Amino acid sequence: MNSLETNSVKMNRSNMDKTIIVGTRGSRLALFQTDWVIAALSAKYPDLKIEKKIISTKGDQILNVSLDKIGDKGLFVKEIEAQLLSGDIDFAVHSMKDMPSQCADGLCFAAPPAREDVRDALVLKKGYQGLNDLPQGAKIGTGSKRRAFQLKQLRPDLEVVAIRGNVETRIAKIETMALDGVVLAAAGLHRLDLTHQISAYLEPNEMIPAPAQGALCLQYRIDDLETGTLLNALADRETAVCTSAERSFLAAVDGSCHLPIGAYAHLDGDQLTLHCVFGDEDGNALYYADVKGTAAAAEKLGIKAAETVKERMSMNMSVNPSTVYLVGSGPGDPMLLTRKGEMLIKTCDCVIYDRLIPEDLIRLAPENAEKIYVGKAASNHAMPQDDINELLVSLSYRYQRVVRLKGGDPYVFGRGGEEAAFLKAHGVPFEVVPGISSSIGGLAYAGIPITHRDYASSFHVLTGHFKDDSLDHDWSVIAKLSGTLVFLMSIANIANICAQLMANGKDGQTPLAVVSKAASADQRVYEATLATAETALPLGSIDSPALLVVGKVVTMRETLDWFEAKPLFGKRILVTRSSRQASRFSEMLENLGAKVIELPMIDFENIHDSELQTAIESLHQYTQLWFTSENAIKRFMTALFESGRDVRALGHLKVLAIGTQTAKWLKSYGIMPDYIPETFTQEGIIDHMQSVLTAEDHILLPTAEKARPLLSEWLDGICRCTALHIYKTVPATVLQEVDDIRKLIETAIDIVTFTSGSTAENFDAFLKANTLTLRPDAKIASIGPITSQTLKALGYPIDIEAAPHTLEALAKAIMEVPNETL
Ligand code: SAH
Repeated sequence: MNSLETNSVKMNRSNMDKTIIVGTRGSRLALFQTDWVIAALSAKYPDLKIEKKIISTKGDQILNVSLDKIGDKGLFVKEIEAQLLSGDIDFAVHSMKDMPSQCADGLCFAAPPAREDVRDALVLKKGYQGLNDLPQGAKIGTGSKRRAFQLKQLRPDLEVVAIRGNVETRIAKIETMALDGVVLAAAGLHRLDLTHQISAYLEPNEMIPAPAQGALCLQYRIDDLETGTLLNALADRETAVCTSAERSFLAAVDGSCHLPIGAYAHLDGDQLTLHCVFGDEDGNALYYADVKGTAAAAEKLGIKAAETVKERMSMNMSVNPSTVYLVGSGPGDPMLLTRKGEMLIKTCDCVIYDRLIPEDLIRLAPENAEKIYVGKAASNHAMPQDDINELLVSLSYRYQRVVRLKGGDPYVFGRGGEEAAFLKAHGVPFEVVPGISSSIGGLAYAGIPITHRDYASSFHVLTGHFKDDSLDHDWSVIAKLSGTLVFLMSIANIANICAQLMANGKDGQTPLAVVSKAASADQRVYEATLATAETALPLGSIDSPALLVVGKVVTMRETLDWFEAKPLFGKRILVTRSSRQASRFSEMLENLGAKVIELPMIDFENIHDSELQTAIESLHQYTQLWFTSENAIKRFMTALFESGRDVRALGHLKVLAIGTQTAKWLKSYGIMPDYIPETFTQEGIIDHMQSVLTAEDHILLPTAEKARPLLSEWLDGICRCTALHIYKTVPATVLQEVDDIRKLIETAIDIVTFTSGSTAENFDAFLKANTLTLRPDAKIASIGPITSQTLKALGYPIDIEAAPHTLEALAKAIMEVPNETL
C-alpha cells in the first residue's frame, strides 16, 4: 500500500467536533486494514477523532463450511451494513473483493485508496519453491473456485482441497491437513507481516486475481457527504479505474462466489487493459477475455469482457488449452513459409512472434487476431525466454489457435525445443511446423549449396555465440571436419571462429562467406578465406541477421548465384495502384527480384446506381457495349447479375475491350470481346473502330467519372453513344503509419510506379499533405503518355515509360533500365 500522505487537509467543522465510528470485522486482517485507514485519515486530518467498532458477521460465525457452499458475497458485510444504515457507525472498511457487485441501498463506496499487491501467492511446505517443484498429485488447499480451477489449468495433476478460515488458520492447515501448500492473496500476507511465508507469487497471467483483489472498500451512507469527502481524500486514481473495470465485469457476468470469476486490470498511461476469466460451477471450462480501452471506458470494458466470456461460454470454447503451433517462418523471403504454416497463421486468433519474422507474414493473420511481439527492438530488450514460455501457456487458455512464429526452423537454435518442453510440462498440446532454416535456405539464396559431391559430403550447423561469450566448442574436432560448417549467431565472433579453426589445423585457404539478411532485398554476401577474413570482411558493419559458412562449397557461388542475379534484385519499388488491382503487378515485379511496397493511392467508389440499373433494363436499345477499364467490367457485371440477369442479356451486343488485359477480364465472365484495338488508348479505339461503326449504332460506354470525354465526343458525330459514369476514383485511405512511410519514401524507394493520372495526383497530394519529400534520385515509372502528362504537370520527370500501355510492358521497361543508373 502507498505510504500515507502526510499533508493535512482542512476539515469541516462538524466532523472535527464529533467522533467518527468505523465498523470492521474482528479478524486480524480486517483490524489491520481498518487501522491502516484510520492512520491514513489521521495523517490527513490530525484533529479527527476516530473510534473502531468490531462487528461479528455471519461469515465469521460459520467457519466449518466451504465458502462457495454458504451463500453469497454479502456474507461478511450484511451486519456491518445494517449498523451503517442505523447510524451506529459512520463508515466501514471491507476488503473490496468481499463486496457484492451492487452496493446496498442507501449506502455507497468512496473511491478506493491505492491497492496492495494484487497477486495470489503460494505458501508451500518447506522445500518447495514454486508450482513446478511440486510432486505429481500434490495437495493444495484453497477455498476459492477461481483459484482451484486456475490451479488445475496450470497443473492438471494437482489435488485441490477445499479449506476455509482466516489467513493464519489456512497456513496452519498445511500441517494439520497434510497439504503441500495453500494459495492466498498476497495482499493479506503482506498486511499481516507474513511475506516471509510466501514461496512464490502467481503472476496475473498465470492466475487472474479476484476482481478488486488487494483493494480496500470504504463504505458510507449515501447522504453523509461529510464522511464521503473525508474518505475520498484517500483515493488513488489508478486503483479506482482498475477496480471499477474489474467490478463492472463482476456485476455484468452476474456471478456469485459459486463460480470462478477473476478480473485484473492494469493502467498504462491512459490505456486500460482488462484480463478476465469466468467459469462454470464444476470447473469443466474456463473462459477468458482480454479487452483494452481508455481509462474513461473502465466500466464499459468490464461489460464488454463479460459479453466476451459469455459468448465464449455459449460457443463452448476453451474447455481445455488449445494447441500451440510452433511454426517456422523460413529464412527471410515470406514466400518460403510452408503451406501448413500459412493456413495456421490465416486461421489463428493469436500470433506471437519475434524479430526475424517478415512483416508480410504477420499481415496474413486475421485483422482481429491478437499479435504479440516478443523480440528485441532497437531500444528495448526482448521478452525473457521464461516469460515467453509462461505467456504461451496462458495464451493457450485464452485463444483457440495460438501460432508461435519463429524464424527459420523452430528447432534450429532459437529455443523452440525449450518452448515445446515447457508447454508439454504444463499440459498444453503443441505441434511443430518445420520451416526452412537459414542455415540451408539462406545459403541457397546466396548461391551456395550446403553440400556438393565435389566439395562437401556433410554439413554441420553450429552456434557462434555462447552464454558467457566464450566459444567452448571442441575446436580440435571441428577443425578436422571436412564438411561445410555453418555458424549461426556468429557476427560478433567471426574473427575468433576463424582463428580457432586455423589454430586447430584447418587450412587458411579454406573459402568462407558471410551471408547477411539472406533471402531479402537487402541480402549481402561477403567472401573471404579463413586467413583473410579479419582484413577482407567489413567486420563490425555487417547487418544482422547474418551467418558464416566455411567450406569449398562457397566457390560454387560464382556459378550458382541466381537470386542476386535477378534483374531487379535489391530494388525497392513502390506500387501506387489500388489495393484491389495491385497484386498482379506486384507479383510480376517480385518475380523479377524486386522488393515491392504497396502504397495504394486510389480506391473506387460506385456512383449512379439507378442510372446503371436503367441502362441494364434497356439493354435492347444498344448495339455495342464498350469497356475501357477492368473496374468498369466488375461494376457493370455485378449490377447485371444483381438485376437477376446473366450474360445472355448481352447476346445481341458487340463488345469492345480497350486492351488485352481488359479482354481477359471479360473472358473470365464468359464474354469474348469482338474488338480489341491495337493501341490501348481512346485514340487507339477511334482508329480501330472508325470503319466499323454506322449511324445506326448505339454504344453503351460505362466508365469512370473522370474518364476523358474524347471518345464520346468523337462518337457524337458518327452514331449514338451513352457514356455512363458508374464509378469514381477517390484517394485511398493510407493505412500505414506516416513515419514508416517517410522512411521508405525519403530514403529507401528506388522506383515509384504510376498506372494512372489519379495515382499520380493523389501521390503528390499525399506527399504534400504530410510534408514528405521523395528521395531525389528515385526514378519515376509511368504506364503511358497520359499518365506521364499528369506527372509532368505535377513536376515529376519521367524516367521510365511503358509501351504498349500495359503492366507487363511497364515491368519490362523497369527491368530494362541499366542497373547502374538506378
Ligand atoms: N531458427 C533459425 C535460427 C535462429 S538463430 C533458423 O533456422 O534459421 C538466429 C540466427 O540465425 C541469426 O543470428 C543468424 O545467424 C541466422 N539467421 C536467421 N535468419 C537469417 C537470415 N535471413 N540471413 C542470415 N542469417 C540468418
